[in-house]
Amino acid sequence: MKITNIEISHHQLDLEPPFPASWDTQPRRKFPATIVRVYDNEGNVGIGSGDVMYGFEDYVNLFIGEDPLDLVRHNAVLDNISFHAGRPWPLDVALWDLAGKIKQQPTWKMMGGLDNKILAYASSGVHRTPEQMADMAKTLVEKGYPALKIRFGRTTLADDFEVLATVRKAVGDKLTLMVDCNQGWRMPWDIQKPWCLEQAYEVSQELEKFNVYWMEEPLYRGDYNGMSALHERVNLKLAGGEMTRESYEFHTLIERECLDIIQPDVVCSIGMEGLRQLGHYAKERGIIFTPHTWGNGIGLLANCHLTAGSVGAPFIEFPLDPPEWSIERRDFMLQTPVDVDENGWIHLSDEPGLGIVLDEEKLASTKSKQATYQ
Ligand SMILES: [Mg+2]
Repeated sequence: MKITNIEISHHQLDLEPPFPASWDTQPRRKFPATIVRVYDNEGNVGIGSGDVMYGFEDYVNLFIGEDPLDLVRHNAVLDNISFHAGRPWPLDVALWDLAGKIKQQPTWKMMGGLDNKILAYASSGVHRTPEQMADMAKTLVEKGYPALKIRFGRTTLADDFEVLATVRKAVGDKLTLMVDCNQGWRMPWDIQKPWCLEQAYEVSQELEKFNVYWMEEPLYRGDYNGMSALHERVNLKLAGGEMTRESYEFHTLIERECLDIIQPDVVCSIGMEGLRQLGHYAKERGIIFTPHTWGNGIGLLANCHLTAGSVGAPFIEFPLDPPEWSIERRDFMLQTPVDVDENGWIHLSDEPGLGIVLDEEKLASTKSKQATYQ
């Protein structure tokens, strides 16, 4: 069996109204998606998505003619490419989807078969008013979600604290609450400095008053000293690592006791095999592994199969903040958006691979030369 072709296409969904992502200083008028398809000589196709894969054409020849089931070999080549040219991990996801189709096994089973379901937490993405956030939280409780992540970064910290207090008052202990401080990285056009240790510590003390389960990205991603010192001083869990690139950087975060929760995203960092190994490494050290997955439905499914099938997690990120961020927008490339059941569980299909069914008509009508937010 041989890999015969790799196809990469870009798509942009028009967003009207725009999506004012809380971590981006520019409202998003388009939602980009890059779709990767890998073909074998028996007519199987694997599908992946995630990073833009610009320039990847130069490396396609490293996979053509290879056995699609040599997944560890492919992961090693992709790791080399990631050093030289961007984040090629969507192909790793596509290769696992293809391997599942060849073996007639769902990806969660290939990952170890631990479980075929995982609990979601609603991950908000807009800076709404305290009242709006409280209403959203109450709706989430009614719909069975166990947890909500709130974004900080409003004009003042007092505004953020007011949102947190209002939400906690509205739902009591019915929702586990997390706060994403988004200090780990910036969009290319945003040069605002991250918090320093003292600022992060002051915020953490306020979060503790409201029984926040985890504080996410409190400091710059490379501030190991700061994270380690903060970790020592606080009584809540620290989370991070969502765009960290290298396996050794994740190991450093764990070894230096920077975090309680590690959040790599399989479409951005070290791929399915790399994260399967990292998940076990983290679990052995008492660290929770629960991927960032603020992308589209393909990335969400890949992260869910990876996590549910290998080491499991208390819950996984489920991007949701309608109307600007609905599951229909997020998963526009799928025939059916990924959704949760009445208790907040995401159930993974027993179809071979990731169980992705693309909406080819939508993909054709959104095809573009680039994958950007404007
Ligand atoms: Mg985050």
